[in-house]
Amino acid sequence: MREHIHDQLAVIDRLAEQKPQYQAALESYRQLLEIMQEASEEARDVTSANLPQPDKQSGRPLFERQALPIDFKTASKILAGFMERLSQSGREDRQGLANTLEKLQTEPDWGTALLQCVLDEDADALADFARQVNLDPEGLGFLARTAMSPAMERLRSAFAGRIDPENWNHGHCPLCGSRPDMACFTSSGKRYLHCELCGTQWAFQRIGCPFCGNADQERLGYLEPEEETGFRVYFCKNCLKYIKTIDKREIEEAPPLVLADIVTLHLDLIALEASYG
Ligand SMILES: [Zn+2]
Ligand SMILES: [Zn+2]
Repeated sequence: MREHIHDQLAVIDRLAEQKPQYQAALESYRQLLEIMQEASEEARDVTSANLPQPDKQSGRPLFERQALPIDFKTASKILAGFMERLSQSGREDRQGLANTLEKLQTEPDWGTALLQCVLDEDADALADFARQVNLDPEGLGFLARTAMSPAMERLRSAFAGRIDPENWNHGHCPLCGSRPDMACFTSSGKRYLHCELCGTQWAFQRIGCPFCGNADQERLGYLEPEEETGFRVYFCKNCLKYIKTIDKREIEEAPPLVLADIVTLHLDLIALEASYG
């Protein structure tokens, strides 16, 4: 169930053809993937420290998100590559991207602190970093998180044997403890969640909210755009959160979940209109 950078590159063209409204977003993302592919060759191997096994009963993941062993130097370099490439495009925020590139090149500790604040999910600190370079915090956070994905891919391969994704069944990732950003039903009808940070996929009960654990069918539901069967928003009336889901029983060539997230922005809007967030 792993999703590698080269797998993603292979399906971007097909996806852009199927969903022309997302062509620009996919094209930008392809540029990021190409930079990641080049830079990740140099990434340091992570040391397989003497970690306790994840604990299924208590839900303790293999790593605490804040203490993930990330090669920040390589991730900063990738982030600088993103800034350089994107700042040369006609984007409205190109000045902010150029400011960020300069910061990364002149103050290496700035990049490390930025990446760490994304791991810490410290929204105030992220807003402060964004203010310093005149970028939107959400965009900066997305790019910083994406810059760490080659490191996450390495972590996933290095520690695949230490987690048991088929039997985890918690609403957070067995590897890093983060929340899911997407879900899917496989052709056999099993549900998997996809980690928003490290990309691990793990099995989760078919009925139930991954965010608050609510399993009362009366308090759960889903929305599905008429013109697009198989792409749904599953929501929870208890915590008012939602998870975008693709149903592989209804979609012939389902995209990797990380790309599905990019081409389902309209599902986020549907959820938002229905007051889920
Ligand atoms: Zn994870
Ligand atoms: Zn819930």
